[in-house]
Amino acid sequence: MSLQPRARIHTANIVANWRAIASLAPDSEAGAVVKANAYGHGAGPVARALRKAGCKTFFVAYVEEGVELRECIGPDAHIFIFNGVEPADMQLVQDLGLVPVMNSIPALREWLSRGGAGKYAVHIDTGMNRLGIRVGDLSELLDLSHTNPPHHVMSHLVDSDVPSDPFNSRQRDVFAKLSAAFPEARKSLSNTGGCYLGTGFEFDITRPGIGLYGGGPTAPEGMEILPGMTLEAPILTVQRASAGETAGYGAEWTFNSPRLLATVALGYGDGFPRSAGNTGYANLGGYHCPIVGRVSMDLITIDVTSAATLAKPGMFAQFIGAEVALEDQARLAGTVGYELVTGLGHRVRRIYE
Ligand SMILES: *Cc1c(COP(=O)(O)O)cnc(C)c1O
Repeated sequence: MSLQPRARIHTANIVANWRAIASLAPDSEAGAVVKANAYGHGAGPVARALRKAGCKTFFVAYVEEGVELRECIGPDAHIFIFNGVEPADMQLVQDLGLVPVMNSIPALREWLSRGGAGKYAVHIDTGMNRLGIRVGDLSELLDLSHTNPPHHVMSHLVDSDVPSDPFNSRQRDVFAKLSAAFPEARKSLSNTGGCYLGTGFEFDITRPGIGLYGGGPTAPEGMEILPGMTLEAPILTVQRASAGETAGYGAEWTFNSPRLLATVALGYGDGFPRSAGNTGYANLGGYHCPIVGRVSMDLITIDVTSAATLAKPGMFAQFIGAEVALEDQARLAGTVGYELVTGLGHRVRRIYE
């Protein structure tokens, strides 16, 4: 069963990235965002490794993710549910000690009126216009939560991957001011990009996600972010193509000289983006091997002319990893690292190292 793509998951790298990001804000707590199966890396093994390394707070999006996570990392860790909770799940959330985030006044009203016990968080919208209680509703929030105040107040940055955007410091200042109305609550603003913005963005607890997995914006000078996974696909066949021949569906790629090609087991049916056709690349033993032609459902053809002596059936070519930066591959496919890693399907075998 080895002729299928695999992702070697580097939990030690993920832990090292978490420590590096945590060290940027030594007076704050660093949490870890492990939603979407830890960005495709496997929520259980990743969270267990981080927990062992001392991480105490984890963030997921859905209640179901929180339930699974609780099972994996035991009763002591804090688990936040970004997207909140519906009435039918309130009991479950309370029994498991999950912390739901209230993203609107109606959501908070429902939680409180149904006797919501246990901790909860409140998300204040400081500019995203996505989730969160609006600035204009702050007095209603204070009235409502007067007898049962939130334990945690958070907001989310609009453009943290562009450090020069003045939106960042505007949101920081608005958040600092508004969240001061909840003196007992712990405050949280920064995702990975926010952690790289420097002083004033730390608050009490940070929420890095993509940086743990080796992607996201460029880390500050002197800080190294390691790959969270190595995505590899085995070579099925090696074939010669003459000048004038074409590669794959639609005959979109024409060879202008004789080339050596390898076809590997990986495709959009595995979540590797079809948009990487004719533009992305693999690495075989240190050699750059462009994707020629379209990405098929289960197959990709790469040009291995430069790695001719290495190209053998059964050899694995790297599509994400130390030689192929996640964000580089993603950019060539017209997307971002987030989408590339979260999109990888179950046919990609995860191997934990
Ligand atoms: C996903 C998410 C994060 C993590 O963001 P990264 O950019 O991956 O670090 C943090 N906060 C919230 C509210 C999120 O939804």
